[in-house]
Order: sequence, then structure tokens, then C-alpha cells
Amino acid sequence: MAKVLMVLYPDPVDGYPKNYARDDIPKIDHYPDGMTTPTPSKIDFKPGELLGSVSGELGLRKFLENAGHTLVVTSDKDGPNSTFDKELPDAEIVISQPFWPAYLTAERIAKAKKLKLAITAGIGSDHVDLDAAMKRGITVAEITYSNSISVSEHVVMMILALVRNYIPSYQWVIKGGWNIADSVARSYDLEGMNVGTVGAGRIGLAVLRRLKPFDVKLHYFDKHRVPEKVEKELGLTYHPSVESLVEASDVVTINAPLHSETERLFDDRLIGRMKRGSYLVNTARGKIVDRDAVVRALKSGQLAGYAGDVWFPQPAPKDHPWRTMPHHGMTPHVSGTSLSAQARYAAGTREILESYFAGKPIRTEYLIVDKGKLAGTGAKSYTGGDMTKGAEEVA
Ligand code: NDP
Repeated sequence: MAKVLMVLYPDPVDGYPKNYARDDIPKIDHYPDGMTTPTPSKIDFKPGELLGSVSGELGLRKFLENAGHTLVVTSDKDGPNSTFDKELPDAEIVISQPFWPAYLTAERIAKAKKLKLAITAGIGSDHVDLDAAMKRGITVAEITYSNSISVSEHVVMMILALVRNYIPSYQWVIKGGWNIADSVARSYDLEGMNVGTVGAGRIGLAVLRRLKPFDVKLHYFDKHRVPEKVEKELGLTYHPSVESLVEASDVVTINAPLHSETERLFDDRLIGRMKRGSYLVNTARGKIVDRDAVVRALKSGQLAGYAGDVWFPQPAPKDHPWRTMPHHGMTPHVSGTSLSAQARYAAGTREILESYFAGKPIRTEYLIVDKGKLAGTGAKSYTGGDMTKGAEEVA
């Protein structure tokens, strides 16, 4: 019987919810490309409930314990005295969400002698040292597509919030003011602007589709071109390099995974190639941008705004400069963990566990690392490497 170690974010400060703002969520069977949403044999939770925090347990306790497995759930994940570190040595399966990542560094993998499966309940497995996982033959799987649309909605919201200067205007209301001129002195229309995405995969393409009705000019850079039919339908301009993309864009959104090619991609040099007064929205991963270069660019006016919800490490320290830099619209890492998204990735986690326990193959789309090499989505979009370096700082 397996020991399953699950790391989830803490419950709300006011306690686990007793009731919810809405009674149901829409039922979605397929993603836009036709892939089916998760297909576990059964679920033991009500879609729309909080599942991603400790008391929610991703709705998996009954299923695991009825089958004789042991489940340990904690939010205490950082440092050598954390519950995660103490429970890791005899765990066979680790489940963690990117929002509150249990960093599986090479050192931790070396201690986790029984570890066979690391599941990312969500998308983006850069909190696992993929090189170390490959060497040890650990399977890494994530719930591909489960929250891609959730994130794309957040990206559109953040682009509009920055360009229209929504957050400062809202703050004038809270402060009891009626400061129209203060609010509009940095407010523009998105219409007619050039919007570019780095990465036109599930999220990037969904952002482009959602922005098309705003009458903007759409651009993208990706390692592979999207089908010609899609380029025509959306009127996309393809750029052969990220430099070319940023030079042409007023708004840039980052929607590529964090791996060796994208780490610190947006440094002083690349931000310097952007138009003065550009907006940068990053819901992909904090490490794709150089933290201090972003602060410098906002202070100098090279960037008119920066928004996103990804930081490094996570949770971000209280004195992280992005909390206080000017013209930002940061949220904690929430874009992919709406209640709607949680229902999908909790079901997807169960689907992976059911396959694993039954000795059946895990859906190829869910695989990042398998049998010692990049596999499935991992083989398509990642180049391996260790993106966990510096994670120990959080402790
Ligand atoms: P996809 O795999 O569908 O798309 C990623 C795209 O990025 C692919 O088209 C891939 O190219 C492309 N890409 C990879 N490397 C590069 C590169 N060096 N330059 C340009 N493009 C590149 O993933 P999703 O769209 O679903 O998710 C993207 C990322 O967003 C995730 O990896 C994760 O880090 C982040 N994310 C954040 C969430 C949040 O809550 N904030 C939630 C979900 C995801 P190709 O496949 O053509 O090689």
C-alpha cells in the first residue's frame, strides 16, 4: 500500500468555507481542442467547493483510504524541519500544486528513496528538478489543460486592468476620492494596440482568441508555428524571434513553460528592446523574468505596467520588491486555481492515481517525465534542466 504525501495551500484565514457564493459551476466535458476533461471512475467532492487547501484534500481521502493507502496532507513545505521533509523519505507519491509548490530538489529526491510518482495538481512541473527525476526514474505528471482557460481569462483581465489603469482608479474609490484626472492620466484604450504572446500553446492561443474581438493586432512567438488556418482566422503575425515580437508589441504576455530556454528570458536587454511604455503580463513563471530588471523598468518608465501572479520562490517573502514597485497589478498565484479549475485538476489527479494503482498507462498528454526521459507534453514543450535552484531561500 502506498503512502501519498500531498502539499496544499493553507485554509482561508477565516476557516474552511461553510457556504459558497454560487450553487454550481458549468459542466465542461471537452477542452477547446477536443481533449476530454478528466475521466476518473468517480469523484467524492462537489465541483465548485474549495479543494486546493489543506482541508479540501483534493477530495481524495476517501478514495485513497478505502483502497488501503495512507494520505498525509500538509502546507508546511519549506526547510529541513518542515512536515514535507519529514514525511518524504517513505512517500511513494507526492502531490503538489504550482500555487504552493513543494520544491522537489535533487537533495530532496535523493532522500525520497521510495518516490515513484510526482503529480502536479495543475500545470507546470518546474518545481521538480526534472533532471534528477529522470535519473531516478520518477514519473512526473500534470493535469494538462485543466486550468489553461482559467489562466487565459486572468491574462485578459490583467491586460485590461493595466491598460485601463483599473486598480489605481478602484483605490481612489476605497480612499473616498473622486479623482478622475488622477485615474485617467495613465488610462488608455486597448483597441488598436499590438498584443504579442511568447508561447502560443493552450493558454497563449486562448488569450489570442479572447482578445480578437477587442480589435487589436495579434502577434506570437513560439518554437512551432500554429496551423496556417488558425493564423488566418485570428489574423496572427508570427515572429521568428522573441526580440522581433517584443519590438512590435505594446502588450506582451508570457505563456511558455519555465525551462532552460526561458529562464530569465526577460532581462534588462530584452526589456530594453520593448517599446517605451509597454505592458508585460506574466502568469507563466516568475523566473522567466529578471526580478530586479522588472522593477528598474517600471521605475524608469520603460514598462508602463507589469502584472501577473507568478513569483519565485513561492510564497513570496514579505519584502519581495514586486509588492511595492510602481504600476503593478500582481496577485498571489491564483489564476489557475479558481474553484472551477480545482474541480478539474482534482478529478485529473484522481484519474492519474487510478491509472497508476491499476498499473495502466497514464494519459500521454499528462506526462512530463516517464521512464527516465521527457515524455508526452514534457517532450514537446520542455528541455529538462533544474529550475528549482534558489527555492531553499524561501525557508
Ligand atoms: P502548453 O504546453 O500548451 O503551451 C506552452 C507553449 O510554450 C507551447 O506552445 C511551447 O511550444 C511554447 N514554448 C516552449 N518553450 C518556448 C520558448 N523557449 N519560446 C517560446 N515558446 C515556447 O502549456 P499551457 O499553455 O497550458 O501553459 C503554459 C505555462 O503556463 C505552463 O508551463 C505553466 O508554467 C504556466 N501556467 C501557469 C498557471 C498559473 O496558475 N499561473 C496555470 C497553468 C499554467 P511547443 O510546444 O510548440 O514546443
